[in-house]
Amino acid sequence: MSGDRLSSLVGARCSQCAAKLRVGDRFCSRCGATVGSDQAVRVAPRIELERFFELAVDVFVVTGPDGRFELVNPALSRLLGVDREVILSKPWSAFVHPDDRERSAEENAREFAQGHRTITFENRYVDVHGGIHWMDWSAELDPATGVVYGIARDVTDQKVARVLLEEARAAADDAREAAEAANRAKSEFLSRMSHELRTPLNAVLGFGQMLQLDALDERQGEYVEQILRGGRHLLELIDEVLDISKIEIGAVAMSVEPVAVPEVAAESVRLLEPLATARQITLRSAIADSATWHVMADHQRLRQVLVNYLSNAIKYTLPGSTATISANQAHDGWLRIAVTDDGPGIPSTLLERLFQPFERIGAEQAGIEGTGLGLAHSKALVERMGGRIGVDSTVGSGSTFWLELREVDPAAEPPAASEHVTVVDRTETVGSLLYIEDNPSNLRLVERALDHRPGIEFLSAMLGRVGLDLAREHRPDLIILDLNLPDIGGDQVLAALRADPLTAAIPVVILSADATGRQRDRLLALGARAYLTKPLDLRTFLSTVDDLLGGPEDPGSG
Ligand code: ADP
Repeated sequence: MSGDRLSSLVGARCSQCAAKLRVGDRFCSRCGATVGSDQAVRVAPRIELERFFELAVDVFVVTGPDGRFELVNPALSRLLGVDREVILSKPWSAFVHPDDRERSAEENAREFAQGHRTITFENRYVDVHGGIHWMDWSAELDPATGVVYGIARDVTDQKVARVLLEEARAAADDAREAAEAANRAKSEFLSRMSHELRTPLNAVLGFGQMLQLDALDERQGEYVEQILRGGRHLLELIDEVLDISKIEIGAVAMSVEPVAVPEVAAESVRLLEPLATARQITLRSAIADSATWHVMADHQRLRQVLVNYLSNAIKYTLPGSTATISANQAHDGWLRIAVTDDGPGIPSTLLERLFQPFERIGAEQAGIEGTGLGLAHSKALVERMGGRIGVDSTVGSGSTFWLELREVDPAAEPPAASEHVTVVDRTETVGSLLYIEDNPSNLRLVERALDHRPGIEFLSAMLGRVGLDLAREHRPDLIILDLNLPDIGGDQVLAALRADPLTAAIPVVILSADATGRQRDRLLALGARAYLTKPLDLRTFLSTVDDLLGGPEDPGSG
């Protein structure tokens, strides 16, 4: 409803005596004249407009140049709990929250003075009970008369919801900061405790072993053996408890990326074969060599879980048993990797106690060595990699310990921008590159990427220390370094390379799944020449290699 139409609605006058008519009047209340048919025709649509005006849920007002309401609709009376006559007897500012009066008046006057005809603003109205209503206004000035036509909506609920949301967000931020602070404190405590526990244990194990070298009688030898066994067990416990706690507080670096399942399964089997043979257990892989399954995991940590499953299958079954590692698609997008044995099995009543720290469900009475932490550790690791873990077992037929991880198809996500890669055609050797990385899929990927750069000799190492040895021995022209290595951290490898005069000048490029700016800044400050993130962007990778190895000599289009 425009202001002009509203004013003509309220401004109708008797054609005889010019007295003001009210909408719907059939006779003039002053001179009694019948309202003319032409007037009636004009008034009829006004009656309809007035109906909308009366019915509206939003507030409609007309304010005179003196700041008094000239006309208000029932919505404002309802909102304020005040009769229309009372509202009309007071200036609009009487109903506005004292803190908003001056600001509203000033802002409105300024905006109208600047030539804006229609303005929007918010202020608070106070109802008869002291309740506050946030009003969202749209107002228009008639410059000729100084009359302002306003329409407003009560937006208190939205305001309150917004404030509550902001408060909830602030509370969540506070909670997160508190949790982070608590985690930091826990992490510091853990590293202190680890140090404090290891120091005396070092003395126990060290001097115990020295005693063993002395000529001891049989009894003394047995005592020393007991001391050493206890010490080693304690060391194992400390390591496992610390690692589980670190995983729980997120203090363990994980490099979750596509991992080839057949490969990691074969590695785990290979690692445990000597132990299995010694105990006359057959280890088998039911995963076809041709299988190409990949899951999202940290390669080294996934192997750790499979090794734990396999070593349990060896420990808790009798000689002559078989343990089989298998993999299959579990359900939409998930791959299940399982270790099945044909051992004694576990009663269903005990199954739910598994995966809890120190829960050995009676194995201690059977005299089988262990800490009761392996499964809890595995659970923490798999969950940190975004997966699930579980067991199925039947007494008398055996157990299946399984884990499920998200399946990925690395081929479906080719390295970005590969179609625009420049292929270099050359025959001479331009340099050597050492890639230190524990995930075989990544090693292969980089090796394949370097197919585009013939003439680069490729060396690789899966352990940080082996990488350091290779770097000292071969002095490659470029080192690509993963941060999450099984033995020492990539940052330590970088520091050792920089500290050694033999390797200090070799440019090092970090290739990590950790894309956080903090990590990037830290590694660059430690002396890395570039910091690239996984998944590998082939073009960026090759141009970095070109830059650091002197660039392609004869680029052709690819
Ligand atoms: P640990 O082997 O050090 O005791 P784990 O957490 O790896 O710790 O295992 C917890 C318990 O689960 C074991 O003590 C054993 O009783 C039971 N268990 C694990 N694997 C098997 C298995 N393959 N067959 C039967 N029992 C098992």
